[in-house]
Amino acid sequence: MGTKQPFQGGYPKIRKNSRRVRGTPNVSQQRKIIKLHLQDIGDICPICGLLLSNGFHLHEAIITRGMIRGVKHLLPEIMVLENCVGVHGGCHVDAHTTEGRKKCAEHLVKREELHNVEIWLDKMESMMKSKTLITECRSLLCS
Ligand SMILES: [Zn+2]
Ligand SMILES: [Zn+2]
Repeated sequence: MGTKQPFQGGYPKIRKNSRRVRGTPNVSQQRKIIKLHLQDIGDICPICGLLLSNGFHLHEAIITRGMIRGVKHLLPEIMVLENCVGVHGGCHVDAHTTEGRKKCAEHLVKREELHNVEIWLDKMESMMKSKTLITECRSLLCS
């Protein structure tokens, strides 16, 4: 109900960090869990290719908050490993450019495997009204 949807993305990989949160995580806790996981695996920033450092930002690589604006129940659905990458504060602006979006999507596919990202996108498609948006997102994965 509401924004407190069960957090399904990225299981079982992030289970360990999910245990650090009591009950069903809210959106900001989901983001924290993902950040802890990215730290644990020693992930890199897709923009500059360097290791993520303290205070890095979590960036929605395929479907952003802006794209689902106004649709509250979708917010927890995009805060999943299949949609999020870590970027340095100074690299974040570039992550939103056309080239940056491609780099982030490529990194995501490498990290989570294409098939998992596609399963997530299928789920998003079933929940979203705009099929145009989903088509655009799929093209990001193929290029
Ligand atoms: Zn960077
Ligand atoms: Zn961003």
